[in-house]
Amino acid sequence: MQTRRIAIFGATGSIGINTLDVIAQLGGRDAFEITAVTGNSNVEALARLAIEHGAAMAVTADESRYDDLKQELSGTGIEAASGASGLDEAASCNNDIVMAAIVGTAGLAPTLKAAAAGADIALANKECLVSAGPLFMDAVKRGGGMLIPVDSEHSAIFQVFEENQRRALDRVIITASGGPFRQMSLDEMRHVDAATARAHPNWSMGLKISIDSASMFNKALEMIEAQHLFDLAPGQVEVVVHPQSIIHSMVGYADGSILAQLGAPDMRTAIGYALAYPERRPLSVERLDFAKLARLDFEAPDETRFPALKLARRAMERGGLQGAVLNGAKEVALEAFIEGRCGFLEMAEITEAVMAEMDNLPAATTIDDVYQADSEARRRAASLLRR
Ligand code: NDP
Repeated sequence: MQTRRIAIFGATGSIGINTLDVIAQLGGRDAFEITAVTGNSNVEALARLAIEHGAAMAVTADESRYDDLKQELSGTGIEAASGASGLDEAASCNNDIVMAAIVGTAGLAPTLKAAAAGADIALANKECLVSAGPLFMDAVKRGGGMLIPVDSEHSAIFQVFEENQRRALDRVIITASGGPFRQMSLDEMRHVDAATARAHPNWSMGLKISIDSASMFNKALEMIEAQHLFDLAPGQVEVVVHPQSIIHSMVGYADGSILAQLGAPDMRTAIGYALAYPERRPLSVERLDFAKLARLDFEAPDETRFPALKLARRAMERGGLQGAVLNGAKEVALEAFIEGRCGFLEMAEITEAVMAEMDNLPAATTIDDVYQADSEARRRAASLLRR
């Protein structure tokens, strides 16, 4: 493998740390030259990672932490930068590939910039496609790089999607673990707190995505992500609950065949696939033992207890900026839930109310349209929360 220049956005997070582990497994500094690592408030960890992995630059998105970062890096020769301009610089340093793993809408601007600069994008940040799908796909196309999904479900679909059989494509089937509340009653769900909601049964992930998995908002975002990534009609995107998280997703074709990708629930497989693409390189991850697995279960998702799925379908059918509205309102409600200011089921109620209020926005023509819809959705969600 030729040495590739890589920037890791969100290096201090769950995906970022796994990416650094995968880079080490794929040959470390012989295979990858790390141009930049980015983080937000966790500057001590960011500096440590930059030093450990030989990054040329470290960027904190939080401008108020610049001096701390500079201090941590003094004498190392590693450049310190901060804020939007620092992220811009990281996106523009002639990268071959960028790992887009900032959490939330904050990931949109730097990832768009990196795509426009022509880097291949290993995309973990699903919000890029949920909020700005057509604009983001267009930026990638114009930049000339590849878009390789890192979300395990979309990586699975990408791995079994036969582009030359597109006319015979029937549907994609996204699997969902069902999260920690899969079997809980609606009444019990009303009273759960963030500590319970973050305990995912199969995957080890960041705080927000873990809670989004419990509410199935994560699956809702993934439905919209799949629609844009694979250019699908809303009716071609299905969800099935599969508690073991062994089948990561499937693609169904017109002859009745279904192709699936399976593996242990470990993000390093999807990350390794994205970083080595189009090759498959050895990774030290658990191998499936089917005799031990014994069974794989499936059930239909319950949209009464998990209304996020119904909201995703509405956003996919309406198109325009409904994805940005869903995501913006949801992020505010999620933050409130984490801080104990909003109930678990209220997250979907608030998101649904904001989507209904902002139902007739036209499609975005610029990224500013997306930011406007996002901030208006946030404003409305915050005001509903205060009532
Ligand atoms: P984490 O919360 O673990 O990490 C988030 C990263 O983003 C950290 O580096 C954090 O820095 C940084 N960050 C936080 N806020 C900002 C901000 N305002 N501006 C710039 N950077 C910021 O998240 P995950 O790694 O779990 O998820 C990252 C993305 O990948 C999300 O979009 C998620 O949906 C997606 N994803 C994650 C999966 C997983 O297994 N974790 C699976 C599939 C997709 P700091 O540490 O300094 O706060």
